Amino acid sequence: MARVYNFSAGPAVLPEEVLEKAADEMLDYAGCGMSVMEMSHRSSAFKDIIESAEADLRDLMDIPDSYKVLFLQGGDSLIFASLFMNLATNGKADYVLTGNWSKKAYAEAQILGDPKVLASSADKNFTYIPDCSDLPVRDDASFVYICENNTIYGTTYPELPDTKGHPLVADQSSMFLSKPVDVTRYGLIHAGAQKNVGPAGVQIVIVREDLVPDDLPGVPTMLRFKTQADAGSLYNTPNCWGIYVCGLVFKWIRERGGLVALEEANAEKAGVLYDFLDASALFSSPVNPRDRSLMNVPFVTGDSALDAAFVSQAAAQGLVNLKGHRSVGGMRASLYNAMPREGVEALVSFMKDFEARHAR
Ligand code: PLP
Repeated sequence: MARVYNFSAGPAVLPEEVLEKAADEMLDYAGCGMSVMEMSHRSSAFKDIIESAEADLRDLMDIPDSYKVLFLQGGDSLIFASLFMNLATNGKADYVLTGNWSKKAYAEAQILGDPKVLASSADKNFTYIPDCSDLPVRDDASFVYICENNTIYGTTYPELPDTKGHPLVADQSSMFLSKPVDVTRYGLIHAGAQKNVGPAGVQIVIVREDLVPDDLPGVPTMLRFKTQADAGSLYNTPNCWGIYVCGLVFKWIRERGGLVALEEANAEKAGVLYDFLDASALFSSPVNPRDRSLMNVPFVTGDSALDAAFVSQAAAQGLVNLKGHRSVGGMRASLYNAMPREGVEALVSFMKDFEARHAR
């Protein structure tokens, strides 16, 4: 069967070159006579895999030595809790709510301590990013938390908040490695791999070393960042296969010219869809133009029966996973790094055709 254009928000499309390389090495990784899935995480072959994945990521993002890079498990949903346990040792941290994922992070913090909401865009169903130029950050807040790209609502921060000197903690899951970021502006970045980087089941945490406490009474060993930081993410058996595929993706990004080149390609790709949406008589984007994500693009016709017809007819043309999240409705096209420009052009061409048949 021919491959489809997969617009899923995650797990998501991976570069074909990466999938082919992983398939080539499936039975015999680098002359080991076994797959990466079968090898010990203590073997020298796997040590090379994880060390070069970390080195390539550091190189791509220009991560200073004063930051630790961790490859973890348990989902970003666990990181919501563990980052609070590690960084909010006084139980206080402040949150900006811009959608389901920041709400979930805040809910974990409520279980564990005394978080505060600084700003929210819930009043307009999270279709914009609130003004973060003068947030009422508490003096004793351990950090300010944002979800930098909102996968469900298709918004992204046009600029980072003024945290008033407090460390910024960002969930970058659905924008990770889609553009250059200045790591030194963050205390912690976390991202699930299953969108821009690799298979589900790997979480990448980049954390300023001085924010990771040596001693965390009452926190289980596996939830202390120090445990994995000291062990090079090998305290226990990691997701070896997932880390290996992440490493292949990092190399793929380097071969394509790194994050500057990817940002340019991503802006062009998303531009093809946004330009069409802005001119369309049938489809529209619900998102405030200034805050539009380059990665996740929700759009609607305003008629749920027509939306459903669009999603099923598109799938029949090999344009799959376009149904919007239930809290927004309509459609959503996720345009991660591995989505080729031809995929977006094919989508827009189908949208034009659908519009010609259904415009009122
Ligand atoms: N954060 C963001 C921005 C997401 O989009 C998602 C999942 O889609 C998550 C967190 C949750 O990730 P996980 O399913 O790995 O817990």
